[in-house]
Amino acid sequence: MTAHILDGKAIAADLRIRLKARCDERAARGLRQPGLAVVLVGDDPASKVYVGSKRRGCAEVGIASYEHDLPAETSMSDLLALIDRLNADPAVDGILVQLPLPAHLDENTVIQHIHPDKDVDGFHPINMGRLVQRLPGPRPCTPRGVMIMLEHAGVELAGLDAVIIGQSNIVGRPMALELLNARCTPTVCHSRSRDLQAKVARADLVVAAVGRTHFVPGEWIKPGAIVIDVGINRGEDGKLRGDVEFDSAAERASWITPVPGGVGPMTVATLLSNTVDAAEARDGG
Ligand code: NAP
Repeated sequence: MTAHILDGKAIAADLRIRLKARCDERAARGLRQPGLAVVLVGDDPASKVYVGSKRRGCAEVGIASYEHDLPAETSMSDLLALIDRLNADPAVDGILVQLPLPAHLDENTVIQHIHPDKDVDGFHPINMGRLVQRLPGPRPCTPRGVMIMLEHAGVELAGLDAVIIGQSNIVGRPMALELLNARCTPTVCHSRSRDLQAKVARADLVVAAVGRTHFVPGEWIKPGAIVIDVGINRGEDGKLRGDVEFDSAAERASWITPVPGGVGPMTVATLLSNTVDAAEARDGG
């Protein structure tokens, strides 16, 4: 293996230490703990795991976590009423509604109901617009977490040709904007893109966010490229695997993220960071 590992677990641990210091400093100044409301509707097993790690992260850095576990049959009006209460609650700086929601609940309506200043997932159209226009505001956690990892590794991004595989609202699209803001030249690919292999083979930086185990063969990777694997796929053996064939890609890449232990921990740490940012912004710094 020739690639350096982008160790998301370690970088996220470092970020949590810095967030704890910010929370401790607030407490020393007599300010309240930052507060994150975590709303889980239904009992999707993967969502329960993600919510559990977000709540543990809050406890570790000193964020108050307010748990709202609702039954799968919760109505839209009840969910929106809860969000109204959380929007008005002065103890709550951030509101996270774990996705996906049960099919009868419209995700866009729910996201748009969250006050943009409490939208710590960064999915509200106002916050996506801020990202488009390079204005400050909460940024979608997974792409932001990837950027923090790349900064941590000291990778010079300006000028790189980047290929993002996947165009979802939560990963692919904001990832392309983050990379554009860092002066990369991004190409966003999706299921209708032609000749994906040729596009990947030209890329200095590849972000895979498809959701299919080992979708990107290692031999596609340009020697020296940076490989970011966002995919989380649970096999029948219960193990987590990424979208990239790790072993063969690591023979060619300069930097690569493992799965697990790469992008996943950064997503959670960035959510905590967005929550502390929101608390500081409300209290005037
Ligand atoms: P998604 O909404 O299902 O999007 C998947 C994307 O992959 C779509 O844009 C789709 O294209 C594209 N795609 C599917 N087949 C393709 C093909 N043959 N060639 C090229 N593109 C193809 O998924 P997501 O929410 O973005 O998540 C992607 C993966 O990341 C999942 O494994 C998810 O679990 C993981 N994830 C991880 C984190 C983390 O913290 N590590 C966070 C979020 C998500 P179309 O748009 O044309 O259908």
